[in-house]
Amino acid sequence: MGRVVFRGATVLDGEHLPRPGLTVVVDDNRITSVSGGESVELGADDRVIDLEGATLMPGMVTCHFHASYHELGAVPGPFGLEEPPALQAVRAVNNLERVLMSGFTSAVSAGAPFAIDASMRRAISEGAIAGPRLVPGSRDVSTTGHANDAAPWYWKLGAPGALHLCDGPDEFRKAVREEIKEGAKIVKMFVTGGHAVPREAERIEMTRAEMAAAIEAAHLRGVMVRGHIANREAILMAVDLGIDVIDHGDGMDLECIERIVAAGTFVVPSMFFVYRLWEMVKGMNPTMAQAMRDDLDAAFAILPVAAEAGVKLVLGDDYGAVGFPHGIYGEELEFYVKVAGIAPLDVVRWATVNGADLMGRGDELGTVTAGKLADLLVVDGDPIADISVLADKSKIKAIMKDGRFVKDEAGRVT
Ligand SMILES: [Zn+2]
Repeated sequence: MGRVVFRGATVLDGEHLPRPGLTVVVDDNRITSVSGGESVELGADDRVIDLEGATLMPGMVTCHFHASYHELGAVPGPFGLEEPPALQAVRAVNNLERVLMSGFTSAVSAGAPFAIDASMRRAISEGAIAGPRLVPGSRDVSTTGHANDAAPWYWKLGAPGALHLCDGPDEFRKAVREEIKEGAKIVKMFVTGGHAVPREAERIEMTRAEMAAAIEAAHLRGVMVRGHIANREAILMAVDLGIDVIDHGDGMDLECIERIVAAGTFVVPSMFFVYRLWEMVKGMNPTMAQAMRDDLDAAFAILPVAAEAGVKLVLGDDYGAVGFPHGIYGEELEFYVKVAGIAPLDVVRWATVNGADLMGRGDELGTVTAGKLADLLVVDGDPIADISVLADKSKIKAIMKDGRFVKDEAGRVT
């Protein structure tokens, strides 16, 4: 089979300003050259795609993804037990295809029940279903009675569905090891309430010793740990103990930023969901709306400072929560640029370079560089001039994952 030669492309990779007029060659599943000026010698089997006026960029990475979530919170009851496991798995199949076809060639899970993610990852690698490179998540590991442990005690459910309840360092170690045995490559902990979870953000729901045991157990097996964290003290504790990813990070201040940068911890602000919730409730519940508005304003004030200081921010959010459907992933970039005031190149970096680094695959993914894996997007337009092109699936003309087109309309760039 011949190579694919993208000619005359404007290359955008989150590390540089857009570079026009480049030729990018893909051979099998790798980018073999990125060059300007000089012409590439073509073989008889090579396919040449002229991309004058279009952008060629790395496939994007979403770093907080719940493949199986659907209208979560609409039905009362313990998370993960709202619907039969098989139905949840079918929905995960659907959502994984959707995220891939929106230009996200990689996704990092923030949790799923019944080890659905691990099965999805296998199904994707076997070619049984279409989906991104998936880092499978776990159930939510936390203590008895924590924010999401909302089932009435007299139901005697124990640790069901999306929850994995444990108490004391030994049980935390065991819970983490069980999740890893079931296929998790990143373990999720619920450290605090807050950030759309109906429990005060100020309380820390596990002890320092419990968190330390969980992180140590995961790292001993090469698995990452992420935590739902929405207050300053919990951020500092988690960073100090070596957590890999802070989800949300409400309450982040300058001291947190300094410690996060020093530790190299990733942060997924996931403020798009809060913004959409605020829009939904502002006419109905002024008290709730005001609390959300305060969170948004605090995030909009601190995020540019964090980005400037070198915090590794990434994309991803709670798609599948009630009122926040799967499928609007590209609008998240638009939100950070147009509402949160982040520079477009920064948001593209979150979506590409930083996402690949979080996956531990920065050497293979995240930029358009010779030698890297060919996860690429052809975009009709310039995301730096107008980020909304990434929110419009019709503008993403081609999607290549591992050297193969999963969408191929690049010949029709206008
Ligand atoms: Zn989540």
